[in-house]
Amino acid sequence: MTECCPLCATQSTAFFHRDRHREYLRCEQCKLVFVPPKDHVSSAAELAYYLQHENQVSDPGYRRFLSRLADPLCERLAPCSVGLDFGCGPGPALAAMLTEAGHSLALYDYYFFNEPAALQVNYDFITASEVVEHLHRPKDVLAMLWDRLQPDAWFGVMTRLVLSKEAFAQWHYIRDPTHVCFFSRETWIWWADCRHATVEFLGADVILLKKGPAKTESRKPV
Ligand SMILES: [Zn+2]
Repeated sequence: MTECCPLCATQSTAFFHRDRHREYLRCEQCKLVFVPPKDHVSSAAELAYYLQHENQVSDPGYRRFLSRLADPLCERLAPCSVGLDFGCGPGPALAAMLTEAGHSLALYDYYFFNEPAALQVNYDFITASEVVEHLHRPKDVLAMLWDRLQPDAWFGVMTRLVLSKEAFAQWHYIRDPTHVCFFSRETWIWWADCRHATVEFLGADVILLKKGPAKTESRKPV
């Protein structure tokens, strides 16, 4: 049976890798590597796993890790921007860092800050740090987030990128049972192209996408 790609919805997906626990497919169109739904863990197991791996807001090592997204984003943001930290987890350290830099942050996390009102307003920027690899429905969730961005707004993502089939088989990142979507550079370039967005890759795992300017109404001929 062919499995539909959870990011671009094409049926053109093929076997990519199998390990002791699950199977991985790759989309021919957007190159997303994904775990088919039959191999997803339950919500209860997912939550238990997150609670075991809780990061502290004040942990200097974790802050250093997040600064690789926070610093380049702050360089690009106007002072006092308004943003959303999507999938902030139980200890929203990235939001704390961006707030200290003078920006205002709303929080949303399916398990820990389930405030749907935060997804009803538009933002100057949205961050998703170590989030997209967990998404069961990346097409819908990423489209929803993109819709919440103003013109010229930034979307800052942290996720490890797929490099090659050989590296994938040895990769610690796939051993986390809650990681079900693995993006590559090609995937982000495809996704950005579909939205006429610009995309920048910083280091191994930071992706910055910028929404286009506001559409100006063409002047009517006199
Ligand atoms: Zn796809």
